[in-house]
Amino acid sequence: MSEDQTRNLLSTLPAVESVLKQLEKLDECKDTPREVLAEIVREKLAEFRKAILEKGQGLGGEGEEEIFNQIKSSIKKFQFSKLQPVINATGVLIHTNMGRSPLGSDQAKALYDIATQYNNLELDLESGARGTRAAYVEKLLQILCESEKATMVNNCASALVLVLRCFASSEEKNEVIVSRGELVEIGGGFRIPEIMEASGAKLVEVGATNKTNIEDYRAAITDKTALLMKIHQSNFYMEGFTEAPEVEEISELAKSRGIPFFEDLGSGAMMNTDHLAPIEHEPTPIEQLKKGADIVCFSGDKLLGGPQAGIIAGQSELIARLKKEPFFRAVRCDKLILAVLQETILAYFKRKTETKDVPNVPTIQMMNLSNDLLRERTENFRSQLSSCINKKIDCEIVEGMAKVGGGTMPKSEIPSTKLVIKHPNFKAKKIATLLRSANPPVMGQIEKEHFQLDLRTVFPEQEKSLISSIDQIFDK
Ligand SMILES: *Cc1c(COP(=O)(O)O)cnc(C)c1O
Repeated sequence: MSEDQTRNLLSTLPAVESVLKQLEKLDECKDTPREVLAEIVREKLAEFRKAILEKGQGLGGEGEEEIFNQIKSSIKKFQFSKLQPVINATGVLIHTNMGRSPLGSDQAKALYDIATQYNNLELDLESGARGTRAAYVEKLLQILCESEKATMVNNCASALVLVLRCFASSEEKNEVIVSRGELVEIGGGFRIPEIMEASGAKLVEVGATNKTNIEDYRAAITDKTALLMKIHQSNFYMEGFTEAPEVEEISELAKSRGIPFFEDLGSGAMMNTDHLAPIEHEPTPIEQLKKGADIVCFSGDKLLGGPQAGIIAGQSELIARLKKEPFFRAVRCDKLILAVLQETILAYFKRKTETKDVPNVPTIQMMNLSNDLLRERTENFRSQLSSCINKKIDCEIVEGMAKVGGGTMPKSEIPSTKLVIKHPNFKAKKIATLLRSANPPVMGQIEKEHFQLDLRTVFPEQEKSLISSIDQIFDK
């Protein structure tokens, strides 16, 4: 193609400035910085330029409009990616795609107070000298976990890496014995064996996927064994021909050989989950430490209902070594997380005895909410919805199941109440798509071809917004 021909073809493309001028007139673009709009326009035009040159063909008559529409949809896609509140009406309590555990008002207030003022993060108010970071929350955690000591890092994955780096990355002792049945993928494509190897530890797998016994562990111990490790199978379960040694047995073996025994609990239940809802019992750090684990770690934002964190509890000497490890500094929690974690743990101490000992933490409250109360709330919501919006929707209340989620308790379901929403012109999938793009966005569920909402995971303060989102979409 000659240079002239190329120039002619490309001249069919609009200029960045002219597209920008058009975009700036649109309501939906007014909150997006001009620089960002310009970048998206440039990227999109570059794609068109490339396509034109490859095809050797300029834009047709409707080309410009087509470009403009595609640019608008790129902008919309980008705007959707902004971190923003979403109404979770899925009935999945700890939804990893929706930020796991939400915070309650006390937790959020603690966050606000520490975030917007100076504080005593590393200040000893008594002496005025430098103080110890996180001493208060570490003490609370130690008491709550009934352990000798406790500390916290960025998340449970970093707790895992920290423990392995500290105890299992030297030349002489780097072998970590784990059952093959516990080498899980924790989600997002991250697998425990890979996380372990990233720490410098050498994984020694024992047993078979479904069966491991204490002799397998015993036989694998060498002079290089640094740790015996157990990983809680949080996000899956095995049934049938299975066997795993008791925690007590592993502990006994570890003690007799002078090797520390570490358990990654993942879920981090601090309450007896079976007392909160008709679900299974999830092992707690207290129980596992009592059974003989020397050190345990778990997530802060799963069943504990706090912020993203990895909590480590266990023997004083081991925790002290972890805190001296240089990597500890790289994965420490910031003041905002510490503020929320502190308030979360305090909520566990403050729980009222008359309300079945349930702390004021949303994840726990939602799990504990009785289905009778939820049904009543859903009925009220339905009448409000039908009086507020005067569209052709049909709402029906049905029984269903909520889930704990977040890669925890895969077997457990909580009896819950669902509001099925039907519209003569919209299929369930269409309703779901429209509600995701409403303001605020709403995530529901599709069950047996019907779109449904579960108010168990919707905060009462969100009900008005939920009605407004439903109202918006049926205008379309
Ligand atoms: C969830 C989970 C992790 C990872 O926890 P994060 O806090 O997300 O880092 C690690 N181990 C187990 C067993 C888990 O369930």
